[in-house]
Amino acid sequence: MGHPVLRTRAQPIPQSDITSARIQRLIDDMFETMHEYSGIGLAAPQIHESLRLFVAGVRDPDDAESGHEDDDMPLMTVINPTITVVGDETASGWEGCLSIPDIRGMVPRAATIQLDAFDRRGKRVKMAVKGLAARVIQHETDHLDGVLFFDRMTTFESLTFMEEFKRYWTKDDD
Ligand SMILES: [Zn+2]
Repeated sequence: MGHPVLRTRAQPIPQSDITSARIQRLIDDMFETMHEYSGIGLAAPQIHESLRLFVAGVRDPDDAESGHEDDDMPLMTVINPTITVVGDETASGWEGCLSIPDIRGMVPRAATIQLDAFDRRGKRVKMAVKGLAARVIQHETDHLDGVLFFDRMTTFESLTFMEEFKRYWTKDDD
């Protein structure tokens, strides 16, 4: 946080460039970085590449065994995304960010969205998304517009350091 690239609107990737060696290598590096930091999402501006690209997810999409539906998110590469909010239901949930280390806050997001984007093979993807995946996709798409999760918080009362999060905010009921 503080690097100007995080506050800059990132550039779309031309569809014909998606399968280029440079972009494919960048995607591989981003997955590696995301896993190294145990993140569930990483946008290109976070590694100082001002491109409309993010990687996200927690589960190998080929792994048939999936977690709880709302907590589940297959690994995905998302390029040039457009988000459309579906319905008017919002959900508040905890978010953190690899660019804002060791801090969590409660952020309201649309509960259900439609995602239109390209995958890493340059194919168009269109899907309705809810639960954790909807939250992560909104968080990461915000990065492509120079928006950080603080900007989406309606109050800062829930802002907490990780140590205090574990001590005061986590419940045993999930
Ligand atoms: Zn983030």
